[in-house]
Amino acid sequence: MEDKVLRKLFLGFIHIHVLHHAKESPIYGTWMLEELREHGYSIGPGTLYPILHSMESDGLLLREDRNVEGHIRKYYSITEKGNYVLKEAQEKAYELFKEIKD
Ligand SMILES: [Zn+2]
Repeated sequence: MEDKVLRKLFLGFIHIHVLHHAKESPIYGTWMLEELREHGYSIGPGTLYPILHSMESDGLLLREDRNVEGHIRKYYSITEKGNYVLKEAQEKAYELFKEIKD
């Protein structure tokens, strides 16, 4: 039960985290997985990749296929809509953080 609730919350955090990095520079799946693991999220490609795909089809990320040493790597960068969503999420997250931090 707790797991299910936490999972739901973390999925939201992961969306925000992806947008944050995609804004700085284009990201790709394995890099993002490693980044999330460093932040303490144990998440696999089976969870992250569908998130990236849905964020792409929702117009939050723009995909660009690049040839890296003979294989195609999918890079994602933030769109204008993604920027808007990130900004909204940042404000709400900050408000909430101020309220609950103690
Ligand atoms: Zn990060």
